[in-house]
Amino acid sequence: MVYGAVNLAQGFPDFPAPEEIKQAAKQAIAADVNQYAITWGAKSLRNAIARQTKLWQGIEIDPEKEITVSCGSTEAMISTLLAVCNVGDEVIVFEPYYENYGPDSILSGAKPKFVKLRPPADENGEWTFDERELRRAFGPHTKAIVLNTPNNPTGKVFTRAELELIRDLCVKFNVLAITDEIYEHILYDGTEHISMAKLEGMRERTVTINGMSKTYSVTGWRVGWAVAPENITNAIRKVHDFLTVGAPAPLQEAGAAALSLPPEYYQKLAEGYRMRRDHLIPALTAAGFKCYRPRGAYYVMTDISAFGFSDDVAFSKYLVQEIGVAPVPGSSFYGDPRDGAQQVRFAFCKRMDTLDEASRRLSRLHRR
Ligand code: PLP
Repeated sequence: MVYGAVNLAQGFPDFPAPEEIKQAAKQAIAADVNQYAITWGAKSLRNAIARQTKLWQGIEIDPEKEITVSCGSTEAMISTLLAVCNVGDEVIVFEPYYENYGPDSILSGAKPKFVKLRPPADENGEWTFDERELRRAFGPHTKAIVLNTPNNPTGKVFTRAELELIRDLCVKFNVLAITDEIYEHILYDGTEHISMAKLEGMRERTVTINGMSKTYSVTGWRVGWAVAPENITNAIRKVHDFLTVGAPAPLQEAGAAALSLPPEYYQKLAEGYRMRRDHLIPALTAAGFKCYRPRGAYYVMTDISAFGFSDDVAFSKYLVQEIGVAPVPGSSFYGDPRDGAQQVRFAFCKRMDTLDEASRRLSRLHRR
């Protein structure tokens, strides 16, 4: 059955990718960059990643020894977990979490251990976690903690104090931090993105994951990377080689061009998403959703208790079939589906007219 709903579910833009990088990809194909790249990534892209990481975060990385380019950050995450985890290990994951982290941990033989991010009481507050719950999660079997900042689905941007607490526990328990920073340039309200690898004592125990998908609006290109100390990189590169051999060669060249875009590009990107956020949230609020205002990334997590549905899946089906707007059910972001039973997530990485159409449809929900 096709319902023709406006898709505010998946996190991909419905507007064009930047012209410069599309040209760079076309040129690379025309210049016959069409065979396997070096398995851990084209030199041009690795150099560009190292250069920009120094510029943006002040972190020096060796492009020859500390970067693995992968098929999206999705592959960087699973390659990292497969490289570092043994059967019986535990991986701490904040929840709600980006859907892949749970299955990724399990596929690597590890057991995910969830620590709750709790929603704020009102829409302008911040998602927080309980320090005691986090401390309790660390133990002798903990291999790694997966962190995602700015965060999908909550929009939380972890503060320095929170990161320092996590750092102290990682050092104490000899635990790796695997940080997914794919939304690093999508920040609002003056919040600052702090890379875990920048904190004292973390450079040698952090794997930083990033990619082109969100920053350059090319989710279909499948180019991402993992930055890690040499010994961990060696293991990640082996897994990556056997999983995929390499990421698309011409698109890696376009990646090098993308990473050379001027600073204004990133300002416009964040400002464009801020406008979309501030466009969608009032429509959702007017329709009866309680919105948790994101400080980064391009999603808004909402509370649906005002609508009187028993669970998020029934409500999402209703929204798709009767109202014509598709969200992601909140339960898909939790280990125990009951925890997300009164939440749904909307993505606002869409054209203004797409958001307008969704808002118009959502206003019918208000009147029911
Ligand atoms: N990490 C997070 C937190 C995401 O939200 C997404 C996509 O929604 C991804 C990774 C996937 O990224 P990629 O396209 O680089 O595999």
